[in-house]
This record gives sequence, structure tokens and C-alpha cells, in this order.
Amino acid sequence: MSKVIVSSLYDSDVFRMACRQFDKAADAINLSEALRDRTKYPRRCLAVSLPIKRRDGSITVFEGYRVQHNLSTGPSKGGIRFHQNVTLGEVAALAMWMSWKTSLVGLPYGGAKGGVICDPNQLTDAELEHLSRRYMQEMVNFVGPHVDVPAPDVGTNEKIMAWMMDTYSNHVGHVESAVVTGKPIALGGSQGRREATGAGVAYLAKKYLEDLKVPMGKTTVAVQGFGNVGSETALALSRYGARIIAISDYTGGIYNPKGIDINKALNYVRYQKTLRDFDGGEAISNEALLELKCTVLAPCALERVITDKNAGRLKCRLIAEGANGPTTNAADRVIEERGDIEIIPDVLCNSGGVIVSYFEWLQNLSNYYWTRDEVMEKLFGMLDRAKDSVEAQKRKFKFSRRLAALTLGIQRVADAKQSRGLFP
Ligand code: NAD
Repeated sequence: MSKVIVSSLYDSDVFRMACRQFDKAADAINLSEALRDRTKYPRRCLAVSLPIKRRDGSITVFEGYRVQHNLSTGPSKGGIRFHQNVTLGEVAALAMWMSWKTSLVGLPYGGAKGGVICDPNQLTDAELEHLSRRYMQEMVNFVGPHVDVPAPDVGTNEKIMAWMMDTYSNHVGHVESAVVTGKPIALGGSQGRREATGAGVAYLAKKYLEDLKVPMGKTTVAVQGFGNVGSETALALSRYGARIIAISDYTGGIYNPKGIDINKALNYVRYQKTLRDFDGGEAISNEALLELKCTVLAPCALERVITDKNAGRLKCRLIAEGANGPTTNAADRVIEERGDIEIIPDVLCNSGGVIVSYFEWLQNLSNYYWTRDEVMEKLFGMLDRAKDSVEAQKRKFKFSRRLAALTLGIQRVADAKQSRGLFP
């Protein structure tokens, strides 16, 4: 058994959840005491105050963070979240999961994450630009193409990455595309990056459904969250032939057992910003969506939505975790006991985003750009290899799929730390 130490700096439900996952995995692979805490805790973090002039002339000071969990295996990598509920502990947990994810899929990166406590829906475009630029200005000495490479996450997008890349480039005095990924194509963004995470979620769901011998034509899907990941997951699964029976965003959900036209929903959201009043089906709450009878449930919004309270009531066959940390540890135990639901764990399921971010970074560093077909072919190849390694680990040690994925990711980070030794 490992000691339970919870850092006071990061203490929160979600950080404790990530730590318990780590402890369980470290026990399962008998990780030595000497390596445990070194591998587990974030390497360093930066907290910043971001004063922004508002539309009415007043000043608001926002708080922002960047946590670099692991720098032993390459620059750290991870998104930046703009959301009103961001905490340092949440950012640290997300950074930790990035370490295991990049390691699991074999990328030469450590894990990181950033966040700003703000509701981007309440900011004007100009305010959002000031906030994004100010955040990067504060991060200039903390990030960089060979130090830490941010990307979009909840509440951030290509436009914000463009402002951040511009701010960093102005500071260093030359164009530095490789400082962030998820940029517009015109600034060195990669073909396929925008849809990469959802395309990867859908591809893996398809592969697991093949293993379960469920034909796509008989597959129904409920997707929570209709942002970058959720909408692209829904779109790709509908193109594979599945019927999307429910989608949702923070305003609530839409349910239609006959199937929702995803292109129509995307068009609606493009102009209306949310799914509120979308006429593609009847209204449903986010809680009820999770409990719908469907083949694939894809939580693609925030953490800790599948809990021990609702896990017993789920009626899906496969959970495809597009979001990071959507299933609590207690819910995992309930689902394992039930034995009738397969989970594709987040570190595997949504890894398509960071894989294509890696491709984008490679293209920026070499100034040589790939076609969309090349990107997608390489993405699906890496996902196939990661899936195979997780399944082999699961079979070999009789682990759950999450434990198999986490042990692979954690072992590789620990091995790297062991090989590098400890600077005296
Ligand atoms: P996004 O901001 O583009 O979309 C988030 C969606 O979730 C929006 O539709 C929003 O309305 C909805 N939402 C917010 N709060 C909600 C709530 N309480 N209930 C239901 N829906 C809610 O963000 P995204 O980039 O799609 O990220 C979604 C998840 O995927 C996050 O967990 C993120 O960490 C993870 N992820 C993102 C990427 C990426 O490439 N963007 C990669 C890997 C993992």
C-alpha cells in the first residue's frame, strides 16, 4: 500500500481522484517508494493575476494558472481552460492525466495544463483577446517550444491560440509557431487538428464496437457536451453510420430517438452559440442524458459527471470518455461490479487531440506541412497501437482497462525518471 499524501497546494476532489488513481496504478506495478512521489506530484506551477480593462472602462483582475506535471520526457504539453470553476487543483489533476496520456501513446512530452477562472461567454471578443494575450505575456518565461506547449481546452479555441502565438512571437522577436498547437491553419495549424480529438474518440468507439460485435447501423449514441470534442465525436460517429439520439451543452440537452441531424445542430450552434431552443428533438437535462438507453455514452464536457449516484442507472454498452476525468473512482467500482459496460478510459480515448498537436508541433519545427490524409492515417495508426498495448496489458495482468492504460503511462514516466537519475 502506498502512503496517502495529498499536497495542500492542489487539494481538491479532482486532484485527490487523480492521486488515488495514481496510487492504485503504482501499487499494481509495485512502483518503488523512491520513485512514487517524484512521479506523482506536479513538478512546478505558476499562478498569475491578469488585470483586464473591461468594455465599460472598469478593471477586472482574473486569476490564471499553469501546472507542469512532468518535464522528464520532453517539453510538457496540455491545454488551457477558460471556465468559471477552474481551480489550481483541477489544473494539476488535468496536468497529471496529460503526463500519463502522452506517455501511453508514446509522445516525447510530459504533461501540463493551464486555466483561467473566467466565464468566456460573459466576455466580449476584445476582452477575451486582452485576457488571452495577458495570460501568455505572464507565461512567456514559463512556456516555449522546448519547454511547455499549450493548446486549446474547454472555453478556448483556435482564435485564442492565435492571439497567444502572436503575443509570444512579438516578445521573442520572431515567428514562433511551435509555442502553441491548435492554431488556425494560416498560422501553422495542422490539417485535422480541430477535429482530431473527436475523430479519435469516434474511431476508438468504432473499434471497440467491432470487438463487441455491435454493427454501426444498430448503434445509438448519447453525447454530453457539444463543444470541440463532443460535436466532432457526434459528427464522426454519425458518418460511420451510428444514430445520435442525444446531445447537450451547458444549457441542457436535446433527445430524439429517431436521430439528430448533427450538421444542422452544428450550424445552429455556429450562429446561436448554444443548443438552447434547437428544434431537433425534445428537451432533456444533462443528468437524464447520461442515463439514456444507448449503445455509446460519450461524456465530452467536464470531470466527475458519472458518479456512484448514477453509475448503477446507466443503460449504455460502452462509455467513450471524450472528457478528462468524467468517471469518479467510486463510479468505476460500481461499473466494474456490474460488468456489463466497457469503458474506453480518457487517457486513451481522447488522446487524438494531443497526438495531432504533436504532429502540428513537428510540422512547425520542420516547416514542412502534411496533408489531412497523412495526418489522419498517422493518427489512426497511433490510436491502433495504443489500443493494442492497453488490451495486451489488460489481458496480461487482468486489470480493468483504465488500470491497464494508467499503469502503462505511469510506468514509462517512472522509467524515464529512473534512467535520468536524481540531480544531487
Ligand atoms: P469546449 O469548450 O469546446 O466544449 C465544452 C462543451 O461542454 C460545451 O458544449 C459546453 O457548453 C459543455 N458544457 C460545459 N459545462 C457543461 C455542463 N455542466 N454540462 C453539460 N455540458 C457542459 O471544450 P472541449 O475542448 O470540447 O473539451 C471538452 C472535454 O474534452 C474537456 O474535458 C477537455 O479537457 C477534454 N479534451 C479536450 C481536448 C481538445 O482537443 N479540445 C483534447 C482532449 C480532451
